[in-house]
Amino acid sequence: MSEPGFRFCDDLGPKTILHCHRPSIGLKAILVVDNVAAGPAIGGVRMAPDVTLEECFRLARAMTFKNAAAGLPHGGGKSVIFADPAMDRAQKEALVRAFACAIGPIGDYIAGPDMGTDETAMAWVKDEIGRSVGLPREVGGIPLDEIGATGFGVVAAAEVASDYAGLDLKGARVAVQGFGSVGRHAARFFAEKGAILVAASDSRGTVHDPAGLDVEALSIVKEHGDHVADLPQGEKLVGDAIVGVDCDIWIPAARPDVIRADNAGAVKAKLIVQGANIGVSEEAEAMLAERGVICVPDFIANAGGVICASVEYHGGTEAQAFQTIDEKIRANTAEVLDRAKRNDILPRTAAVAMAGERVRKAMGLRRWG
Ligand code: NAD
Repeated sequence: MSEPGFRFCDDLGPKTILHCHRPSIGLKAILVVDNVAAGPAIGGVRMAPDVTLEECFRLARAMTFKNAAAGLPHGGGKSVIFADPAMDRAQKEALVRAFACAIGPIGDYIAGPDMGTDETAMAWVKDEIGRSVGLPREVGGIPLDEIGATGFGVVAAAEVASDYAGLDLKGARVAVQGFGSVGRHAARFFAEKGAILVAASDSRGTVHDPAGLDVEALSIVKEHGDHVADLPQGEKLVGDAIVGVDCDIWIPAARPDVIRADNAGAVKAKLIVQGANIGVSEEAEAMLAERGVICVPDFIANAGGVICASVEYHGGTEAQAFQTIDEKIRANTAEVLDRAKRNDILPRTAAVAMAGERVRKAMGLRRWG
């Protein structure tokens, strides 16, 4: 086990690590298939110049837990292509197609979009090897960002968690940090439930109105390429001020670690539902729990996208995707919060235990685990 390639091995995986090198086209890529006990691994293809094997492995493991927690018949994997995603389109297409051919023989990995790749790239992968998820509508895809799959799941999680936090979504005051694919749609689905959006932010600033912001007007502002602070309504806040906004539910939907030990004390919300990946640090989650603030972990609350991808892969419709996201995220949120309450542990600890149990149970049913 002292060989460098085996340094990540533990009882769950990884099953396969593939290094791809095609000098003639400049392709350097790594695929990590972590665990396939529940079924073929689904995980994104990340394109960036500074990715590493370690990052790829950690992301693959995160997908093993996320897919297991979501109750999908899929294991976890991830791949990285060492390249600048802003390259010329023809060059990118050639590179992605070469990557697809290299991973083609690894039949238990299904590629999806991630940072630096998109639905068009997934169409190229499918064209080459016949499998990928997150496809354009024209080739049988369910465009998960366009329909708001992840934001929809975040609101389903929030509705279940509201009961545990003594809240009612109707009339609940919500703040959303990050008004992109996840945050914008979450705000829309919250509004449909009768919640009031009191603050929203993007990379340029925050707009705040305790009386409630016009969610549709905000979406139109973003569609025009402007920023939330360009909305004529409301007061404008700068920096991290949205963290301390007076509200009932706080939704991180942007960057990692936006709530940390040094600013967790400013949080006024009773409930945080994590749209962003690792939006709240583990230390902050523990501090918030001490104060009775419930945090629904990222891989429980933001699984809407991968659930949608799985429905797409199995030939389902958009309506089936919404129904599956709703059922799975509601059931998982309730199970995690029940376990946390019963055992007096953090929701994240409960979620990791739940996912680990599911992976190990599936491994027990397979010849090779
Ligand atoms: P996106 O790029 O569409 O939107 C991100 C938004 O965050 C933008 O509005 C941007 O302006 C804003 N932002 C960036 N820095 C900010 C800051 N410092 N303060 C406030 N806002 C800031 O990205 P997305 O797809 O909506 O993803 C958001 C998060 O959700 C990421 O952590 C992502 O990994 C996670 N996530 C996304 C999906 C999905 O389906 N898109 C699924 C699971 C998890």
